[in-house]
Amino acid sequence: MAQRYVRVQNQDGQVYYGLLQLSLDVQVLDAPPWMQGQPTDIILAADSYQILAPCAPSKIVAIGKNYADHAAEMKSDVPAEPLIFMKPTTAIIASEEEILYPPQSQRVDYEGELALVIGDRACNCTPEESQTKIWGYTIANDVTARDLQSKDGQWTRAKGFDTFCPLGPWIVRELNPGARLQTFLNDDVKPVQSACIDQMVFSPDFLVSYISQVMTLLPGDVVLTGTPVGVGGLNLGDKVRVEIEGIGRLENIVVAR
Ligand code: MG
Repeated sequence: MAQRYVRVQNQDGQVYYGLLQLSLDVQVLDAPPWMQGQPTDIILAADSYQILAPCAPSKIVAIGKNYADHAAEMKSDVPAEPLIFMKPTTAIIASEEEILYPPQSQRVDYEGELALVIGDRACNCTPEESQTKIWGYTIANDVTARDLQSKDGQWTRAKGFDTFCPLGPWIVRELNPGARLQTFLNDDVKPVQSACIDQMVFSPDFLVSYISQVMTLLPGDVVLTGTPVGVGGLNLGDKVRVEIEGIGRLENIVVAR
């Protein structure tokens, strides 16, 4: 199994980056791994920590309509160039934390997505240079208040509620380009979303390059690469699980805010 890079909090509230062992113990690193963090002698036992989102970005940049069949289900064309928007970092929650359904919305959707974690400052990069800026990969759910997205005409409110960016549970460094992304609701065996990440319109390298022409990406920043076809509504009590082959599964329950 690939090395899994986690961020955890111990019982005293201390936050650490670390390596998740098969035993589920965590070997603590002395810095974020993309800042050359090295393993220390500190081991956190499996029952002594809480898992956090795997990084603490300065910003989350997300991409709209980056799978052709999702653009079609939204009754729109694939954009000629990437469509970027942002989510506030306060929207981030870890796997197993609760998505809070806001009273302002009657329609909250899941959007399973591959997330890129930036390891090195990226400004005006070519797609080729961008390859070296992507440190690793994790899973995100770009939770969206669909009714507010159409009503507002721009997306800050619809995408920006607290808890609307489940992220994790950990980061891996390598990903098969043909890895499958799937989203499941509750205990249904049939996924509501299922696509290979190589069906993206704009590739991860291209996206990082494109964004870096606009704003500097910093170590630990996150890029959400868009969702495939099959988006749909969440109800109170739903359990939503996004899986990407070679990474793992991100699971959250929906409760009233
Ligand atoms: Mg999305």
